[in-house]
Amino acid sequence: MIDIINLNKKFGELDVLKNINTSIKRGEVVVIIGPSGSGKSTFLRCLNLLEQPTNGDIIFEGKSILNKKMDIEEYRQKIGMVFQQFNLFNNKTVLENITLAPMKVKNLPKEEAHDIAMKLLKRIGLENKRDEYPNKLSGGQKQRVAIARALAMQPKAMLFDEPTSALDPEMVSEVLELMKELALEGMTMIVVTHEMSFAREVAKRVIFMDEGIIVEDDVPEMIFTNPKNPRTRDFLKKIL
Ligand code: ADP
Ligand code: MG
Repeated sequence: MIDIINLNKKFGELDVLKNINTSIKRGEVVVIIGPSGSGKSTFLRCLNLLEQPTNGDIIFEGKSILNKKMDIEEYRQKIGMVFQQFNLFNNKTVLENITLAPMKVKNLPKEEAHDIAMKLLKRIGLENKRDEYPNKLSGGQKQRVAIARALAMQPKAMLFDEPTSALDPEMVSEVLELMKELALEGMTMIVVTHEMSFAREVAKRVIFMDEGIIVEDDVPEMIFTNPKNPRTRDFLKKIL
């Protein structure tokens, strides 16, 4: 579904991504781990063009998304993103948060956007919160609304950037459970996380990044029980 070819990203003189090569298959769940500052967020942000890559290419369903003729807005609709800090619109209700993009970007009629949103709210068990503002929600509820908001655009793939890192510990599992359900339904997912149990259980592949390179890319079993690279071993020792 997505081929990443010799992807490079510089911020000024700083080489943040150095020749990243990998492919994401349809329905695959790939977890990215690695120390702070290793380029994980920048990599995700390049994938939906929140950052412009410096060099290399990203091929989505056979077409370069860096081609000048590519409709970036249309591409972005296909890639949902969930952030550590939720990024909900705080001056909009839960329901409005979810219906906004389908109405504004996809031009769906209000009723249709509303139906989609209510189905998603039911699914995450928050239909009674539809008229609340985000500041009335717990962190776990906010993040589930953020996921619902991304799903309302019916994306082909979802990017998650440390979706549980800002949550109180007791709220982590409600978000991971929802992500696990999406994975089981066949959603293509790229997840940056420090939740190693999620990685072990749900990921098809785990990528270890360090200093802007992919150091290791393997099935979770290998990464966690028999990492080949000493840097992977060191990192896992520190966090497990
Ligand atoms: P990670 O998500 O793995 O912690 P990031 O992708 O956020 O890493 O950052 C990788 C490196 O790029 C860091 O050194 C960070 O300071 C730098 N960086 C990230 N975004 C920017 C930016 N917009 N401008 C300049 N430097 C940046
Ligand atoms: Mg990050």
